[in-house]
Formats: sequence, C-alpha cells, structure tokens
Amino acid sequence: MRNILVVISGPSGVGKGTLVDLLLAEDEGLVESVSCTTRAPRAGEQNGREYFFITESEFRDRIVANDFLEYDEHFGNFYGTPRSFVERQLREKSVLLEIDVVGALNAKRLMPARAVLIMVTPPSMEELTRRLSGRGSEGEEALRERLRRVRYELDQAHLYDYVVVNDDLQRAKREIQEIIRKEKEKEI
Ligand code: ADP
Ligand code: 5GP
Repeated sequence: MRNILVVISGPSGVGKGTLVDLLLAEDEGLVESVSCTTRAPRAGEQNGREYFFITESEFRDRIVANDFLEYDEHFGNFYGTPRSFVERQLREKSVLLEIDVVGALNAKRLMPARAVLIMVTPPSMEELTRRLSGRGSEGEEALRERLRRVRYELDQAHLYDYVVVNDDLQRAKREIQEIIRKEKEKEI
C-alpha cells in the first residue's frame, strides 16, 4: 500500500468540509493538511484548525522562502499549502488537501504519481445555492461572488481523476473511501 495525496475540490458550499470531516474521522491513515490564508477567520474558525491565519506580509515572505507546495489567490486573499507538513506526513500517511482547481492542478504537476484529484459536485445548482445560503457564513456580496465562480469550477471537472456527486452524504463519503482504497493499492 502506498501513501497518496488526496486532493478534494468543488464549489463553495458543495459539502467538501463536511465530507472531509467524515473521511478523517473514519480513517486513521489519512491526515489533512491545514492551509495558510490571509483571509479573516469566520465565526467559529480556529487558528491552526481550519487554516493558519497569517498576514499578507508573512504570506509573501513564505512564498519567497519556497514554503508553499502551491498557493493561489481567491476573492482577494491568498491561500497556500505548507510544503514541509505535506512532505513529512506522506512518509507515514496519506494526506488530504481541500483546495481549488488551480491548486489541485499544481499539486498534480508537482506530484504526478501521488496526487489523486477528486471533484465534488452538487446534485443541482438549486441545491448548491440552498446549502451555501443555509450555512450562513458569507454576506450577500461574498455569497454572490462564490456562486459566480461555480460554473468555472464545474467546467474543470474533466481535468480530474474522479467526479463524485454529493447527493446523499453517506453515499458520497463511501464512494470517496472506495476511490482512496483502490488508489492506495495501485502499484506505480
Ligand atoms: P464546503 O466545505 O464545500 O464549502 P460545507 O461542508 O460547509 O461545504 O457544506 C455546506 C452546507 O451544506 C453545510 O451546511 C452542510 O451541512 C450541508 N451539506 C453538506 N453535504 C450535504 C448533503 N449531502 N446533503 C445536504 N446538505 C449537505
Ligand atoms: P474559503 O475562503 O471558502 O475557506 O476558501 C476559498 C477557496 O480557497 C476554496 O476554493 C478553497 O478550496 C481554496 N483553498 C483553500 N486552501 C487552499 C490552498 O492551500 N491552496 C489553494 N490553491 N486554494 C485553497
């Protein structure tokens, strides 16, 4: 069995965070990489748990120091995957990244044999809008901005290794678990 880099993407509100929590709770061989971001924490978010919240100048210093495996800008904020954490963890476990399309393709380019790209899609746009507003974490404008980006993200699904529809949460979770199991067994 090999350790892989499981990269999960999908539009904001599709249920990535919910699925990831279930996957981590049920698999001791899987660990999540916590990204750094310059955006402000949302209510309930803790530094070091959802993200490491750092300043833009710190972020720029870390880009220069080559501390990020990949990084990108979304909605005016920077987001990046800490390189040392991922490389260290991969010696023992599989590592899960919850990142956007650009980040996912960069991860694949940097680790072609290890990265397994999974796109999570909503059963319908109506359902996605309902989930995103139901979460209540964004203001009106931020919500509209995230919805505008959805079409672009879903159009990239063909670049992914797998597309999983998050219709029923438990079913989608099992489908991803099965993908991970099969990929870890592949001899490369
Ligand atoms: P993301 O991390 O992709 O932005 P979240 O995990 O925060 O999305 O989920 C957005 C909202 O949708 C949450 O309120 C979550 O409870 C709900 N949700 C997630 N998956 C499902 C599902 N399969 N069916 C119904 N609601 C879901
Ligand atoms: P949010 O602000 O809703 O938590 O995240 C906004 C976007 O940033 C999402 O599409 C999320 O997947 C992406 N993101 C989170 N962490 C990273 C990262 O480390 N790298 C990249 N490239 N994108 C990230």
